[in-house]
Amino acid sequence: MLHIKKSIVFTLSSLALATSLSLPVQANVVASVKPLGFIAAAIADGVTPVDVLLPDGASEHDYALRPSDVKRIKKADLVVWIGPEMEAFMTKPAAELLPAGKNFEIAVMPAVKPLLLKGDDEDHHDDAHDDGAHHHHGEFNMHLWLSPQISRLAVVAMHGKLLELMPESKAKLDANLQRFENELAVTDKHINAQLAPVSNKGYFVFHDAYTYFEKHYGLSPSGHFTVNSEIQPGAQRLNQIRTQLVEQKAVCVFAEPQFRPAVIDAVARGTRVRKGTLDPLGTNISLTKDSYVKFLSQLSGQYASCLNEA
Ligand SMILES: [Zn+2]
Repeated sequence: MLHIKKSIVFTLSSLALATSLSLPVQANVVASVKPLGFIAAAIADGVTPVDVLLPDGASEHDYALRPSDVKRIKKADLVVWIGPEMEAFMTKPAAELLPAGKNFEIAVMPAVKPLLLKGDDEDHHDDAHDDGAHHHHGEFNMHLWLSPQISRLAVVAMHGKLLELMPESKAKLDANLQRFENELAVTDKHINAQLAPVSNKGYFVFHDAYTYFEKHYGLSPSGHFTVNSEIQPGAQRLNQIRTQLVEQKAVCVFAEPQFRPAVIDAVARGTRVRKGTLDPLGTNISLTKDSYVKFLSQLSGQYASCLNEA
């Protein structure tokens, strides 16, 4: 009996030790979606770990937090997200679990507000009869991570915030900010050069995510299938797109890695339009100090590879 007890004690304590060694260090910065994790990782590199809530393949418009996510939010020193009009799933935990000092909400930053672009809510009018649903969209397009300008402002603000939390890491945080700004400037020039030759080619994207990127780089989108990747486009919208494809006013239709709906194939059938893929969330990119510029470069390459072939 004594023997057994001893071995149980031994097993439990070695288990506890193994667990504490093998589990990753608790992330101090938690980001709602992956591109915000990219932004946070650029400034937090070598200072504090960054963790992302939304799993690869999930939609930023339609996610429900798991209990483990709620725990991660509770334990975080800083939670980075856009705001209730983007990540509805964050609204309640942010209000109930986060003191103001830990809540890093990008859409309400004073420097960001004047840069917000109007969202397209045409779908309500065009397709109200088709989908019959009344989904709420805010006034602005909230895919703010697709704006290099807003992302830069977020990194600068995050630098200030982390400096408050970890003043002892000032040298590293300053160096990270400098490196990010340099890399972003170089990448921005490269993307401008890559996309300039295709700037007047028309195309359709699957969901209305890309406005900031398209404005910044002077692209010419013809439209989108849907405002929200979780809502099927209506018949009237599909007819309009089909007409433009037949008249060759657009050269590409872009699906997304997690959304390859049959409607895109159906609408493109029998036309000369090419099919490409745009990834607005950087699904296959891992979190490193360079992941945000990799993400922008990948997106630019995805546009160019389809639009260039015309
Ligand atoms: Zn979206």
